[in-house]
Amino acid sequence: MFTDLKNKRVLITGSSAGMGLAAALAFARQGAKVGINSHNVPPELEETLSLLRQYGGEVEFLQADVTRSDECAHLVAAFVERFGGLDVLINNAGGLGGRANLEAIDDEFYDRVMDLNARSALMMTRFAIPHLRAAAKARGETTCVISTGSIAGREGGGVGAGVYAASKAWLHDIHRNWVKEFTVDGIRFNIVSPGTIDTAFHDGKSDELRAKIAASIPMGRFGTAEEVAPAFLFFASHACSGYITGQILDVNGGQMAP
Ligand code: NAD
Repeated sequence: MFTDLKNKRVLITGSSAGMGLAAALAFARQGAKVGINSHNVPPELEETLSLLRQYGGEVEFLQADVTRSDECAHLVAAFVERFGGLDVLINNAGGLGGRANLEAIDDEFYDRVMDLNARSALMMTRFAIPHLRAAAKARGETTCVISTGSIAGREGGGVGAGVYAASKAWLHDIHRNWVKEFTVDGIRFNIVSPGTIDTAFHDGKSDELRAKIAASIPMGRFGTAEEVAPAFLFFASHACSGYITGQILDVNGGQMAP
């Protein structure tokens, strides 16, 4: 179904674990060339790389802290040098960055959350655009940016997670702007918006709280990273979604139907 992803050059930020890693595996299975990334070198890196390389495709780990604009520039440059171009950028790195009620928020907290979820995607996209434009022209089909949004960006997030939720709403909206600027270049922009997915994101939640959250989801459980991965494949595939841009696909077990 996703056969046109073979040999596509895919860079996924924040992909040493969780949904980014599950997406990397799904792309590798399709024969794509995949760049995975994290700000730190994960202890299980070698195992992860052999897992990704079992399908015969090319895979590289590129360390960069995407909260820093200079490191975003280096990450894109390193990926392009390694793979000769870029067809799909996935802005997946992100996270809560802590919880703080409004009256406790200071500049440091605000910057931390916005840098991780908003600045990272903005700068990665900025540096990726020339390569995505060139690849679209050379291939004669669309290339794309996919960002990981959130159900929180739709409904405001839990108490203490307002800046995180707003950063994801920001991301949802800036994609709409990029559609206006770059569709002419053959670049599509779509969002995968997960609900509650069982990753390290929810570490620290008690069993009781997890059960309460699960009970609030019509499907009665958290989603898995593997259940989110096909949404990335769909948006990356020109054959599947070449006429789809500026959209948000919610993968949330019915938790919310915007
Ligand atoms: P995760 O914690 O399992 O994975 C996060 C990944 O990002 C890891 O590989 C980590 O090393 C990397 N990372 C963290 N900071 C980084 C940085 N500064 N630079 C580069 N890489 C960095 O989390 P996840 O749940 O898979 O989250 C992936 C995305 O999904 C995030 O954008 C998150 O906000 C979003 N999201 C998660 C959920 C959920 O329920 N898990 C729901 C909605 C949205």
